[in-house]
Amino acid sequence: MSTAEETIVPEKFHAAPPEQRKTKPPVDPASLTHRNLLDGEFWRPMFDVDRETFLDFKWQMKNSLYQEKKLIEMLEGTAPQEFIEDAKRGFHLAPMAVRVTPYLLSLIDWQDPWNDPIRTQFIPLASRLYEDHPMLTLDSLHEQEDAPVPGLTHRYFDKALFLPLNTCPVYCRFCTRSYAIGVDTDTVEKVDLKVDPKRWEQAFAYIESRPELEDIVISGGDAFNLPAKYIQMIGERLLNMPNIRRIRFATKGPAVMPMKVLSDTDWVDALTAVNDLGRKLHKHVCLHTHFNTPNEITEITREAMNVLFERGITLRNQSVLQAGVNDTTEVMQELVRRLSEINVHPYYVYQHDMVRGVEDLRTSLKTNIDIEKFIRGSVAGFNSPVFVVDAPGGGGKRVAHSFEHYNTETGVSVFTAPSVKPGQKFLYFDPLHSLTEDMRERWRDPVERRIMVDEALNACR
Ligand SMILES: *Cc1c(COP(=O)(O)O)cnc(C)c1O
Ligand code: SF4
Repeated sequence: MSTAEETIVPEKFHAAPPEQRKTKPPVDPASLTHRNLLDGEFWRPMFDVDRETFLDFKWQMKNSLYQEKKLIEMLEGTAPQEFIEDAKRGFHLAPMAVRVTPYLLSLIDWQDPWNDPIRTQFIPLASRLYEDHPMLTLDSLHEQEDAPVPGLTHRYFDKALFLPLNTCPVYCRFCTRSYAIGVDTDTVEKVDLKVDPKRWEQAFAYIESRPELEDIVISGGDAFNLPAKYIQMIGERLLNMPNIRRIRFATKGPAVMPMKVLSDTDWVDALTAVNDLGRKLHKHVCLHTHFNTPNEITEITREAMNVLFERGITLRNQSVLQAGVNDTTEVMQELVRRLSEINVHPYYVYQHDMVRGVEDLRTSLKTNIDIEKFIRGSVAGFNSPVFVVDAPGGGGKRVAHSFEHYNTETGVSVFTAPSVKPGQKFLYFDPLHSLTEDMRERWRDPVERRIMVDEALNACR
């Protein structure tokens, strides 16, 4: 290049001198904690067994605790006495039965179980039982209203949710389907959705009769609890329907008992066979996981996810935003990075549904929106989850930012869903504990309640 040409290049296009460059400062590799997954025999203080035993899913299932008495016995001497008393009272007040795996119990910090994110998801405490929001109902998503046959919810145009069973390897305190999942509790009698191929046939017949259905979510309950032969039977039955293009099995399993993927060969082979059939038919088969905290992801999880990844199974994760579990930017970022690290795409982060008896877990919509802003841009775009609200009343999933109106004082947000339920408005209510004391008082008054709801509906943009 001649000197004459050089002079016409405007000043600003020259590289900045080193002292003015805004390059990234060096990073201490030790700060990349999402790559350092918990390893070693971390279970020993609670379960004095060797690695082979701990990694056996049958041992995990046999030693899962669902009897309150056994769980309490286990905690004697491990957890503070005050905590045990708190949990005993919590069990009687909770809408969900309790069930936890040894894996999860080994990951809880028993020095401070009150603030542990795994304890928070699975063990109810009387001291954390907050007043339910007055606008809350049991099946807040109206899954049963949108069900043409028992255990099949057809809400969206081309996709449906199939619930083949009502059991899970664990019971989460916050389950949206506490109307059906697990055994009856002191406070809730459940709808019956047992493993029953005859009932399934009704669902299959409906799916076949609706040419617009292309996409089936197989949830539950939990696909981890479906015997291998049923995984294969359901998978093949659906994939062989000409209208079906995509199916996904949804499970909390990898987050609570990754050992199953490492030692239940029949189950993994059945899932692989369904995946292989899908490929042959040019249809997509996925596994949707449910990790909520980075603490659920250990070296054992990595090993398990590697098995599924090697078999070519697409993995996606759906988390629920929960106070004390993942409601800070730091924890959510660590979760998203760890998921990316183990080849699981963070797909959704759900605003917590309005479920009875777990108000301590809900956050305001504002928390959701603030965390989303921070996460987007911090990892690859395809690993950035979409933050959604499953609109109470059956509006379906809405991007949290897309509210028509949101009053952060009353905590009322309004959503619309033009392709799901045109013309309707859907309301979400921030938990009372996120509002001022004056505002909580207003919510206790039915007349004030009406005024706040009307105000929100009238203010829609
Ligand atoms: C979540 C859900 C689906 C699947 O929705 P995607 O946005 O495609 O993940 C289908 N049916 C029901 C009833 C659902 O709740
Ligand atoms: S695993 Fe899913 S369906 Fe089962 S209790 Fe937990 S949230 Fe509910």
